[in-house]
Amino acid sequence: MCGIIGYIGKQQATPILIEGLRRLEYRGYDSAGVAVLQNRELATRKKKGKIDEGLAKLVQANPIYGQVGMGHTRWATHGPPTDENSHPHLDQSGKLAVVHNGVIENFDSLKERFLEEGHTFKSATDTEVLAHLIGHHYDELMKSGKGNWTGEGTHPLAQAVMNALREVIGTYGIGVICTDHPGVMVGARRGSPLIVGVGEGEHFLASDASAIVSHTRTVIYLKDYDVVTLFPDKFKMDSLGSEVASFQLSKIEFDADAAERGKFAHYMLKEIFEQPKTVQNAIRGRLDAEDGTAKFGGLNMTTAELRAIDQIVITACGTSWHAALVGEYLIEEFAHIPVEVEYASEFRYRNAPIEKNTLVLVITQSGETADTLAGLRESKRRGHRVLSICNVVGSTIAREADGGIYLHAGPEIGVASTKAFVSQVSVLTMFALMMGRIRMLSNRRGSQIIKALEAIPDQIQKILDQSEEIKRIALKYAHAEDFFFLGRQYNFPVALEGALKLKEISYIHAEGYPAAEMKHGPIAMIDEKTPTVILAPTDALYEKTFSNLEEIKARKGPIIALATEGNDRIKEKVEDVIYLPATWEPLHPLLAVIPLQLLSYYIAVARGCDVDKPRNLAKSVTVE
Ligand code: GLU
Repeated sequence: MCGIIGYIGKQQATPILIEGLRRLEYRGYDSAGVAVLQNRELATRKKKGKIDEGLAKLVQANPIYGQVGMGHTRWATHGPPTDENSHPHLDQSGKLAVVHNGVIENFDSLKERFLEEGHTFKSATDTEVLAHLIGHHYDELMKSGKGNWTGEGTHPLAQAVMNALREVIGTYGIGVICTDHPGVMVGARRGSPLIVGVGEGEHFLASDASAIVSHTRTVIYLKDYDVVTLFPDKFKMDSLGSEVASFQLSKIEFDADAAERGKFAHYMLKEIFEQPKTVQNAIRGRLDAEDGTAKFGGLNMTTAELRAIDQIVITACGTSWHAALVGEYLIEEFAHIPVEVEYASEFRYRNAPIEKNTLVLVITQSGETADTLAGLRESKRRGHRVLSICNVVGSTIAREADGGIYLHAGPEIGVASTKAFVSQVSVLTMFALMMGRIRMLSNRRGSQIIKALEAIPDQIQKILDQSEEIKRIALKYAHAEDFFFLGRQYNFPVALEGALKLKEISYIHAEGYPAAEMKHGPIAMIDEKTPTVILAPTDALYEKTFSNLEEIKARKGPIIALATEGNDRIKEKVEDVIYLPATWEPLHPLLAVIPLQLLSYYIAVARGCDVDKPRNLAKSVTVE
């Protein structure tokens, strides 16, 4: 949520900032702004709305020049999306500018204090209060005579930022510049992601690597409480925590092209079509055909430790939570280990009794999800071993977990998650297989799972090849205002995910249910205007699912069925059928979710929705 980009170096900052903001726009798109140090003055441009419709036009009409600047694309938490509430925000003196991702929880009391001192505020944001707070500490430092910098130690601007942040309750990833110090930019983080890009004679500050990968591949992932002072040709790390400041240089793993939309109309469509490849990337090198198992490099646990686990808690949010539900079915079936799936936002605050030998798995695409991170920290505080399943290399959750498994899916830019879900389920399948094989699963069974998993990429491709037919079906139902998604067992979480996808990008009311649960209430909603997508593969419970289908039919509800190739009988019963290749039952979610992603995509496009930037949403939820 929210994108920050900062530049300090020899080039003109504005084009770099605008380009960076475009790449970060998936993180927030309520409004955007830039501040550039131009002739020792702060020149700011801020505009409500998306970058190309607002800020980019403003900057074109009224350019700003300078080699130090910061940009921000906002996902509003405090104050509506307006020009005034857009970042950057200035302090009382107007000399200091701040961009911020996160929430200043004690902004109210701080604001009151400054109002009493005669400060004036131009916005309703918590961020402007933070700018005033930093400005206040900067003035204090100057007055005390400690504001002169000899080139050694902590720079006064960084010192002012640190003094201010000590008063702050909440989360932040910030960038700060000041007209008194035209060759300096300060960044700091607690709870919101921020990275430093290290170039030649230039430095960058960014919320994620995609914003700067075309400029540099060398980065530092800031840790909580890090405060970095950037100069064009050097940087200095300080820490607000008890630890001595430290940093590690890392390399960005993906190519700049991986974050491009290419020939596709939307990132979401590109990412849907990438899935045969992303599953291959998730399973590559991790399957051991001979031993009929899976192996992972980064678990940091011995087989004996894994063997000693009596319970698993999986915590996640949104689509990752749906993947976790599939994981529950998989792990319980393959390994007979009891699994609890918890919404991270609930888990973090409740006092769930967790047995001693419990492994906590956290699942997140970005590795920055605030609630999931809090769940991880709470679990570690209680002494549990935590493993992460995430996509973004070097992300906070990947670093703080005791071990983990990367998805290797490449950057996911579409706000509605697609390829990450399929990769998460692929990884969970392999994890369940591995856990099963050190317990009660036979080599023969393990080999069957491996074979089935290896066939998935081609089978996904086969479904993608039917996209024109899926589009035809989508257009037929694009006018509907309510939708149901039903599935049993492994397909129940997929039904939830199908409903979520449709809600997210087309704003159609949609609900997912276990197919048989329908008759306990929701069936009252069924009429001829309410389509139901029913996941009805030819599996052990097919006849039961078919009865549920009949129940909908009897109430005149139109039905789109997802059925296994060769099932001709179902065609006569329902309005539309999407055929899926046959696979082993536990792997069905990997196939069934694909047409649901396409269905929501085409429906959303037909309704004129902005698929990659759905209203009210943003990617990487770094606030509570
Ligand atoms: N709390 C700040 C605001 O509402 C920052 C939100 C964000 O992370 O974009 O402006």
